[in-house]
Amino acid sequence: MRVVTIGAGLGGLLTSAFLAKAGYEVIVLEKSSFIGGRFTNLRYKGFQLSTGALHMVPHGEDGPLAHLLKLLNANVKIVNSNPKGKFFIDGNLYHYREGWKYLSFKEKAKAMKLLAEIKANRLPKGEDAQMNAWEWLSDKIGENEFAYLFIKSFLGWAVSLAPEEVPAIEFAKEIKATLKWGGPGLIKGGCKAVTDELARIVRENGGEIITRKKVVEAEEGKVFTADGEEYPYDILISNIGIKETVELFGRENFDKEYLKKLDSLKPAEGIKINIALKGKPRIGNTVVFTLDTKRINGYNEPSALSPELAEEGYTLIMAHQALRSRNIKKEQRLGVEDLYYLFPELDKNGEILLIQTYLDGNPVNRVASGQHLDFPMENVYIVGDANKGEGGIEVEGIALGVMKVLQELGV
Ligand code: FAD
Repeated sequence: MRVVTIGAGLGGLLTSAFLAKAGYEVIVLEKSSFIGGRFTNLRYKGFQLSTGALHMVPHGEDGPLAHLLKLLNANVKIVNSNPKGKFFIDGNLYHYREGWKYLSFKEKAKAMKLLAEIKANRLPKGEDAQMNAWEWLSDKIGENEFAYLFIKSFLGWAVSLAPEEVPAIEFAKEIKATLKWGGPGLIKGGCKAVTDELARIVRENGGEIITRKKVVEAEEGKVFTADGEEYPYDILISNIGIKETVELFGRENFDKEYLKKLDSLKPAEGIKINIALKGKPRIGNTVVFTLDTKRINGYNEPSALSPELAEEGYTLIMAHQALRSRNIKKEQRLGVEDLYYLFPELDKNGEILLIQTYLDGNPVNRVASGQHLDFPMENVYIVGDANKGEGGIEVEGIALGVMKVLQELGV
């Protein structure tokens, strides 16, 4: 069985590694000169920034991605954060558990009850499921301002969306996943450690990965590349997005109803700001949710686990914000102002290394969390962030989506 995978991002490589191991003849076609897509390291001014992700996995060493990496015997180390999270408000940092003090006795009791219900899989149904995350939560526990700020930071950090943009059912499933698998973890060596290892497994099992090979057209049984070559397939794995895959086959081959649903899918967009601070790690292996900022939703410190990601004598901080408007200059400026608020020492003791903006063709997620559309052609499978499993935050969602595809293929 010949498998052609379009795109060597995390989704494409993960699927290809399993298929190559299962004996399929796999060829991965990647348009860029490097592999890993938005999940690899980017060398810049002596630091190893990233092409996308913040060198962090949402459910650490116990989540779905770590599970698949273990099944592949991948040599990757993910270390769970400790504590699971902190939050920043009024100039101070707190352990996430201290958040309870901002809720009244009654609100806390309601929130505890809700968490127990979610854990027991009693998730929002009917009209409740269609509410947005904040409508639903405030209906359950009351309009607590701290809870709103916390959820806003959490969702902005985790899925690059505002609470009003996430359906209640998806939010509840994300909480359920967090209760089940725990909080985030940093990857030793950063994102590149994962995608390089997956590429090694693909190759070790007879698969081939060809870079600078852009697929420009597809039809039943073959794809065509920009340099005029054609690659026949029995199974096509597309890691480039669902809209982009439809374009490869030609929109005229899909019915109107399907195209309408396709066009209604929205991406999640955001800005990542990388800063360097002189001296030792500041927060360690954890994530800080920033509550009283104008734009930044949270930050982490990948060099706390992997000092080699920062230039000697420095620590690397990565901050993220969901994109709130198309006025990119203003969004970036507000994000930078937040960083001077969060790190007053930035002026004297540090530097803003790089501001990376993810939108349009290079978003945070091609299909924002909570939306899903199947691909209607036989033998063609979408993997990556356009086909995430429900409740799957970022790469955990990609892993859940890949598991589903492998199951359908009987692997
Ligand atoms: P991609 O990485 O985009 O891979 C697709 C590949 O296909 C690319 O290599 C591309 O070059 C190639 N390609 C495209 N078109 C063609 C073509 N026509 N022919 C051949 N090749 C083609 N996730 C986390 O879990 N933790 C985080 O901390 C985190 N933080 C994030 C922060 C930011 C700012 C961003 C942008 C993302 C973040 N994410 C995070 C999300 C995560 O990085 C992405 O979901 C994931 O990397 C996407 O992987 P993918 O396989 O879907 O796609």
